[in-house]
Amino acid sequence: MSENDSPLDATALRERTRAVCARFPDEYWTRLDEERTYPAAFVDALTADGLLAALIPAEYGGLGLGVREASVIMEEINRSGGHSAACHAQLYIMGALVRHGSETQKRRYLPDIAAGRLRLQSLSLTEAAAGSDTTRIETVAERDGDEWVVTGEKSWTSRMAETDLAIVVARTSPRGEARTRGLSLFLVDLREVRERQPDAIVVTPVRTMFNYATYSVRYRGLRLPADAVVGTVGEGFRHLVDGWNAERILLAAEAIGDGYWFIERAVEYARSTERFGRPIGANQGVQFPLAEAWMRIRAADLVRYSAADRFDRDDAGVGVEANTALYLASEASWAAANAALDTHGGFGFVDRYSIERKFRETRLYQVAPVSTNLIRAHIAQHELGLPRSY
Ligand SMILES: Cc1cc2nc3c(=O)[nH]c(=O)nc-3n(C[C@H](O)[C@H](O)[C@H](O)COP(=O)(O)OP(=O)(O)OC[C@H]3O[C@@H](n4cnc5c(N)ncnc54)[C@H](O)[C@@H]3O)c2cc1C
Repeated sequence: MSENDSPLDATALRERTRAVCARFPDEYWTRLDEERTYPAAFVDALTADGLLAALIPAEYGGLGLGVREASVIMEEINRSGGHSAACHAQLYIMGALVRHGSETQKRRYLPDIAAGRLRLQSLSLTEAAAGSDTTRIETVAERDGDEWVVTGEKSWTSRMAETDLAIVVARTSPRGEARTRGLSLFLVDLREVRERQPDAIVVTPVRTMFNYATYSVRYRGLRLPADAVVGTVGEGFRHLVDGWNAERILLAAEAIGDGYWFIERAVEYARSTERFGRPIGANQGVQFPLAEAWMRIRAADLVRYSAADRFDRDDAGVGVEANTALYLASEASWAAANAALDTHGGFGFVDRYSIERKFRETRLYQVAPVSTNLIRAHIAQHELGLPRSY
């Protein structure tokens, strides 16, 4: 639909993603959800197809696509009934390395990531005492000769046990007047850490209401070489913001994929299930919430493409648009989730139908990577010119 005006053949990309996803039906995701197991086979299949190298420039062996096209991949995974959380970070974390990494870092890592020999799946940022107030993180990186020494604790770092590389955010100078200054990004090669400093990182699984490979992580004097810094020392926050916009657009696309999936499943069920002598879908009480949710998804979808295009042409207004896309998409997918659950009646709660699994999964988009309140606050300040409230 909305991708018709894309310069790249997004339809072909959609078909290609769909073909990989078709090999992983509902039963696969339901079983892993029950076991709380990482979908390694699915991620390997996407990697083998080259889809996770979407945002790596062609000169480093990637597909060299923009966020618009990458968002189609994320949407399709969720639209097929799958869960992009297993791999989405590989796409948006890449931005920090591609845009701010040194040529040496890029040549060292990007070709191997593109070829599927290396995984860059984790961003280690959030801390319990800081929460959404990123500039208050307490993990520090101190200089010791030629090395940096990282100490601190992250309450959340997803896929830390499933990745080879991670980007860790730490304070390299105290929080001052300019609160966004003094944070730095470090590219950590976990293969080397596991071999040479096995006690420097403690990774503890955090069990959540859905199948999400997430962990709390303790850094205990982790020693990193000077060239592990990505971009400029002290400017990590600025480097992160770029990536956040890409992340918001990609996750908006995931929520949109969920939304369409809920509607498609609910419509199928409403057409084929008879009560009181006719299909339940003939009742306006069943139709209207589905029609409303569809319209909300459609509207969010248009803003998502508009945000993606702004991102891809480096438009200054991308922040407001990317946040708006995620807000609208997360609210729309939640409306679709509730409409689908109601349509299925009691069966909506039964795992065989997958509605309850996707219901749990899609709720996250209103909370992470950024809560909808913080998006409202961002729009109030940056679009409406109201005083900063956070
Ligand atoms: C499954 C999962 C995986 C995650 N993976 C990662 C990861 O890989 N890496 C990582 O770094 N982080 C990760 N996170 C953390 C995630 O990014 C945060 O949970 C998210 O940013 C929200 O922050 P918080 O939980 O600290 O909420 P808090 O900041 O503690 O907020 C709590 C509540 O207060 C509200 N609130 C706070 N401040 C304001 C304000 N000024 N105005 C109005 N309301 C306010 C919020 O809207 C929210 O409702 C993950 C989280 C989850 C749940």
